[in-house]
Amino acid sequence: MRTVYLNGEFVPENEAQVSIFDRGFLMADGVYEVTSVLGGKLIDFAGHAKRLERSLAELDMQKPDDFDNLLEVHRALVRLNDIDEGMIYLQITRGAPDDRDFVFPDPETTRPTVVLFTQNKPGLANSPAAQKGIKVISIEDQRWARRDIKTVQLLYPSMAKMAAKAAGKDDAWMVEDGKVTEGSSNNAYIVKGNTIITRHLGTEILHGITRAAVLRFAREAQMTVEERSFTIDEAKDADEAFITSASTFVMPVVEVDDHAIGTGKPGPISARLREIYLDESLKAAV
Ligand code: PMP
Repeated sequence: MRTVYLNGEFVPENEAQVSIFDRGFLMADGVYEVTSVLGGKLIDFAGHAKRLERSLAELDMQKPDDFDNLLEVHRALVRLNDIDEGMIYLQITRGAPDDRDFVFPDPETTRPTVVLFTQNKPGLANSPAAQKGIKVISIEDQRWARRDIKTVQLLYPSMAKMAAKAAGKDDAWMVEDGKVTEGSSNNAYIVKGNTIITRHLGTEILHGITRAAVLRFAREAQMTVEERSFTIDEAKDADEAFITSASTFVMPVVEVDDHAIGTGKPGPISARLREIYLDESLKAAV
C-alpha cells in the first residue's frame, strides 16, 4: 500500500480523506503537476514548481503553507514508497468550505487541500512504446480557453483518450481552427527535414516543462526549431512526429489518422532528442 501526503501528513492511501465539499471535487477548482522520477531522483522539479506557482496565481489561489517544503515532500514520498522509476502526482485545490458556493471561500478560513501520491513505473525510461512509436487520431479541441493553467479539469482529455482507444490507437491530437493544439496530455511536434515544428506558446496549450527542455536541447544540438501551429495534413506529410511530457519524455508518433508518418517507424531526430533529454535530465535530477 502506498504512503501518500495529505495536508501536512504522510498517511497510508486508504486513510487519506478529503471532504465532499472540497472545491476540487465539486468544481474542478484545483491545479496539479506531475514530476517523473528516474534513478530515485526528480526530473526538473524546479520547472514544475515554477509552473505550479503560476497556475495558482492565475486562479487567485493562495499558496499552501507547505509550498516551500514541496521538494522535501516529493523526496520523502520517493523514499517511503521506494520509487526508482515512476511519477509523483501533486494536486492543490481551493480547499473545502463548509458548503457548496460559486463564490470563492475566504482564504483565511479555507486552506488549500494539498495531495501528493506516487505511481511506481519500473522501466519508464526504457518503455517499449518508445521503440515502436505511438499512433494518434485527431479530434476537435473542446476544452476551455485557459489551457496554459494546469487545472484538474481533465474530462475532455480523458474523453479524447477514450476516442483514441475506441479507434484502436494510443492517443489523440486536438485540433482547433484547423490547427493542432496539443495531445491529450502532451505537447505535439512534427519534423520536416532538420526542422522541428511545435505550436507557439499561448493560452491554447499547456507550457510543457518537457517542451521547454527539449527545445533548448534541440537548439543546442544545432537543430532548427519553429514555434508555430501546424495542420493534420502537414503532420501526415512530415518526416517524423513526436510528443513530449513529463511521463513519456520524447515519444515518437508513427501514425496520424491511419496515415503513416515518414517511414512509419520512429525517426532519427525523435530518437536522438529522447536520448539527449534522458541523459541531460538525469544529470540534472535532484
Ligand atoms: N499538454 C497537456 C494538455 C498536458 O496535460 C501535459 C502533461 N502534463 C503536457 C502538455 C506536457 O507537459 P509537461 O511536459 O510539463 O508534462
